[in-house]
Amino acid sequence: MSSIVDSHCHLDNKEFDPDRDDVIRRAVDAGVARMVAVGTGEGPPDLEAAVRLADRYPEFYATVGIHPHDAAKASDADLARLRELLGHPRVVALGEIGLDYHYDFSPRDTQQAVFREQMSIAREAGKPIVIHTREAWDDTFALLEEQWAPHSVGGIMHCFSGGPGEARRSLDLGFHLSFGGIVTFPRADDIRQAALDAPADRILVETDAPYLAPVPKRGKRNEPAFVVHTAAKIAALRGVAVDELARQTTANFERLCLRGASIRS
Ligand SMILES: [Zn+2]
Repeated sequence: MSSIVDSHCHLDNKEFDPDRDDVIRRAVDAGVARMVAVGTGEGPPDLEAAVRLADRYPEFYATVGIHPHDAAKASDADLARLRELLGHPRVVALGEIGLDYHYDFSPRDTQQAVFREQMSIAREAGKPIVIHTREAWDDTFALLEEQWAPHSVGGIMHCFSGGPGEARRSLDLGFHLSFGGIVTFPRADDIRQAALDAPADRILVETDAPYLAPVPKRGKRNEPAFVVHTAAKIAALRGVAVDELARQTTANFERLCLRGASIRS
């Protein structure tokens, strides 16, 4: 298979402490030559969870960002530090950021304020954003329309879990749709429809490891090697060879995320 990019994983997670090197080796052996470590970690003041991985392993790019769960912990100093970290040569995007009204771990007005601030930081840096949205589509779209769309830097709808309507709106706002393991779950017809309809040049694949492992690994700890199952599912849906999907999603990732970054393959 052509090499493929896992566009979103949390390999800093302590679940990988016992065997991180093995997990990365299995990914590379499975054709997952590059991974994006998403650096929300345990939240501020530590913003560098993914940067540490990218500094240590050549297979990783990194993101930095404050997850909506942690919005209440964000200080002005943290936001200033994000600005600095976006200049790191391996940091390709700001995320994951957005709104989570399912857990409401931070008050909604705080989530919105920190989301806004981070969009303005990403815009200044000319970097794409990675969106986490849960039970908050309307407010997410409203904020993106207000703060992001006019600047057209683009971004990623991480673990896209909407249907064709949300997919359309996301695409219209210039976003890529990143599909994770959920697309392989039995009751995900809406997400599969979105994966079928999406233009080939706007699709990405991800694991969100250690969460949400795809069938046939469902229920296990997820790891980047498993992204091939998600890719195979989407390729079958779309009637293309998995190789073709791997090539296309890799090209999409490079076009969106590697504009200013140092490329190693
Ligand atoms: Zn994530």
